[in-house]
Amino acid sequence: MTAAVQRADMSPLQAARRVVLKIGSALLVDDATGKVRQDWLEALADDIAASRKRGQEVLVVSSGAIAVGRYHLGLHGRALRLEEKQAAAATGQSRLTHAYQEALARHDITVAQVLLTFDDTEQRRRHLNARGTLRELLKLGAVPVVNENDTVATEEIRYGDNDRLAARVAQMVSADALVLFSDIDGLYTADPRKDGGARHLPEIVEMTDDIEAMAGKAPPGYSSGGMVTKLAAARIAMAAGCRMAIADGRKDHPLDALIQGARCTWFLPPTSPPAARKGWIAGGLKVAGTLTLDDGAVAALRQGKSLLPAGVTRVAGDFERGDAVAVEDKSGRRLGRGLVAYSSQDCLRILGHKSGEIEAILGYRGRDEMIHRDDLVLDT
Ligand code: GLU
Repeated sequence: MTAAVQRADMSPLQAARRVVLKIGSALLVDDATGKVRQDWLEALADDIAASRKRGQEVLVVSSGAIAVGRYHLGLHGRALRLEEKQAAAATGQSRLTHAYQEALARHDITVAQVLLTFDDTEQRRRHLNARGTLRELLKLGAVPVVNENDTVATEEIRYGDNDRLAARVAQMVSADALVLFSDIDGLYTADPRKDGGARHLPEIVEMTDDIEAMAGKAPPGYSSGGMVTKLAAARIAMAAGCRMAIADGRKDHPLDALIQGARCTWFLPPTSPPAARKGWIAGGLKVAGTLTLDDGAVAALRQGKSLLPAGVTRVAGDFERGDAVAVEDKSGRRLGRGLVAYSSQDCLRILGHKSGEIEAILGYRGRDEMIHRDDLVLDT
């Protein structure tokens, strides 16, 4: 795919190469009938197709499983218990994905359903798995349609709102833009329905206590997850170097409207996604082991390449896949650190071997790289 080029006159959305769109239930599902608003969804699909024609990759995080499913189980018109929500999600999710599939098939775009739990996004090992799958789907040209796996997610372990889930997905795939489509065109200094003096804020460059306090003033239910979860999402996105918008999605073609300059609030972080990811790897994580490299691997790393098992001569420490490990040259000089794609035991078995031999040695086909270059930070 062609990389989108950033120009000064472009909106953050146009400049993005990889975009996550979060669609709330209230936009997608008709509350009176429990049916997907197919016309609205088809218009969104047109926007997604146009976006891909511009060279962008698109992922969708969509709510609506519970809102659709409850009608098929006679569970509408009242508040649901957790078990009822889980049951509703189980019957609604397939209908939801089907609706996306139908809408995007008109543009010959393949949809891939991805259901995630909190652990899949929060635990590093599983995070690497989900990241790998999502990136592969994008490479293969599919549009991943992501939701929380509500059927197995209980109260203590679930997000419950797709705002934060969408921000985690954006972080996971190093997206450069995330749009939360909602029933309001952004963040205001106060609730605009109650306060005539409420001011719209077009751009936020830093999350301050004052900004957080503005979310506190919005009543619950004002939009599906409320402003509180949207600002929590903005915090995650900003830390990941991903630009995030809160935008009104109620009219048809909401993405196109945004590109044409519709009013919204942009949260603009100071860093880019790769820089933020590298900062996270370089800073926050405890190192659980060390890999020693031969001269060829050291030279390859310096050229920005990934670390292959063939270039590793020694493995020290006890670590799991996804842990942070240090890398050093044969004289023991530290070169940097990265997230390792194999456990220490598996590393010991495949070190010095060609990537093509991994499957025969381990009995499964893992990644070609021991540390992928995106997951590697060299000391300067
Ligand atoms: N995952 C839930 C669903 O699909 C929705 C969560 C939300 O509203 O943010 O029904």
